Amino acid sequence: MSEPTPRLVVLSGPSGVGKSTVVNCVCGLEPRIWLSISTTTRAPRPGELDGREYHFVSDAQFDQLVSTGAFLEWAEFAGNRYGTTSEPVEAHLAAGYSVLLEIELQGARTLRLVDPDALLVFLAPPNWDELVRRLIGRGTEAPEVVERRLGVARVELAAEAEFDVTIVNSSVEAAASALLDLLGYPH
Ligand code: ADP
Ligand code: 5GP
Repeated sequence: MSEPTPRLVVLSGPSGVGKSTVVNCVCGLEPRIWLSISTTTRAPRPGELDGREYHFVSDAQFDQLVSTGAFLEWAEFAGNRYGTTSEPVEAHLAAGYSVLLEIELQGARTLRLVDPDALLVFLAPPNWDELVRRLIGRGTEAPEVVERRLGVARVELAAEAEFDVTIVNSSVEAAASALLDLLGYPH
């Protein structure tokens, strides 16, 4: 069987749709896919570790990374900043990994401009009520933060047509399989 061609893949979708859960499943099944670790000014959630879920930085440190051109893309989301540093992405692509970026809509739009070959995948909820249930059920955000994220979610859902492909996250396993199929990895 021929080797899949390593690709840069963006996975976007509203907060709470299940992006992290699906990505964890995909990366657990396929070691040739690497999840980029973003840099953020958001505070760590309980259980999150610096250098594992994110590189957690101060506003001043983030400013410094912006001014030195370290980011492939960055964006503001619900009161915090998030960015993808270029160097590890390029190193992993060169080493033969497909690279997954789990990023929000503005970042996906930037990626489209800086790398027209990137595959843009939209992860959609089965319906609105289920999205609300998942976001509240995760229990990691205060009620006002949940409200803010649901407001952004309406905008993100309206942008689905800008993506190359939509995967509906009804079941984690089925969504992970669909992503592996798209990239050509057996499972
Ligand atoms: P995101 O990364 O998109 O913000 P998460 O991966 O944190 O979302 O998932 C939000 C919540 O929804 C979590 O509690 C997760 O366990 C749950 N979840 C994810 N995918 C599914 C699914 N297919 N069915 C039911 N619950 C799910
Ligand atoms: P969370 O705070 O829930 O971890 O992430 C909030 C949003 O920021 C999610 O939609 C997530 O995909 C997005 N995000 C995470 N990292 C990045 C990044 O490096 N760049 C951009 N543009 N968005 C990111």
